Amino acid sequence: MAENCSGNCSSCGSDCASRKSESFIEPTGEFNNIKHVVAVVSGKGGVGKSMVTSLLAVLMNKNGYKVGILDADITGPSIPKSFGVMGNAMQNELGILPAVTENGIKIMSINMLLKEHDAPVVWRGPVIAGAVKQFWQDVVWGDLDYLFIDCPPGTGDVPLTVFQTIPLDGIVMVTSPQDLVSLIVKKAYNMANMMNIPVLGMIENMSYVKCPDCGCEFSVFGGGSESAAAEFGIDLLGKMPIDLSLTQMVDNGCIERFDENYLEKAVKKLESLNK
Ligand code: ADP
Repeated sequence: MAENCSGNCSSCGSDCASRKSESFIEPTGEFNNIKHVVAVVSGKGGVGKSMVTSLLAVLMNKNGYKVGILDADITGPSIPKSFGVMGNAMQNELGILPAVTENGIKIMSINMLLKEHDAPVVWRGPVIAGAVKQFWQDVVWGDLDYLFIDCPPGTGDVPLTVFQTIPLDGIVMVTSPQDLVSLIVKKAYNMANMMNIPVLGMIENMSYVKCPDCGCEFSVFGGGSESAAAEFGIDLLGKMPIDLSLTQMVDNGCIERFDENYLEKAVKKLESLNK
């Protein structure tokens, strides 16, 4: 302990043994009761992170849980489109109201606050990170069992803000076989580790294509998720094929009607948080 210790570490530069680590965690709005928060992350874009976020939300909702999605991919939001959510967000005296899908999933995305849905968000990193914080604090989520956060790819301002300010139960990492080869995903894993965020597991997307005639599975991009998961010491929670019906459902805004379950193990892992 430093000489003349006042107990206030924020005004002291001493690196002594009794230094308390500073927490930047922010509470959500008092009108919210959110039991579990899970961020979905990836090393690079285009690996299907938003697809996996949407499917996890759909599957948990089907299992009877109250679910929300916070679309933190501010510059490339794709969640509203997958669910056919087109309108702008409304507000009441408590805060911003999320959109509610056909089956009751609550969604908040920057697209719902823009006049033109195809307008680019040309904001600096800290402003974007501020918007994500606002989605956590000022959106009237109400009672939720699970809130999924669709993080932008990589290890920039927004994932950092999410990791630092939102009390996460953990993250799910989404990879594609190419992503594994490039090792970019390892950076995302290392960032979570550095910040003591539990990694719930990994999902490999675009793992294979199934021949519609003979049912054979082709690993077009190779594989590698088993060895990567083993190397990181985390669970491999699923492998999703390239499935054209998924793409069509996203394009038609009806992802909630997709009824294959490629992510059974991931769902079980998420349910185990609730015990
Ligand atoms: P990310 O969030 O990682 O940038 P997306 O989830 O937006 O990636 O996916 C990129 C594109 O690939 C989207 O058009 C999406 O519909 C499509 N896609 C993702 N996963 C699959 C899959 N398993 N089968 C078919 N299309 C997919």
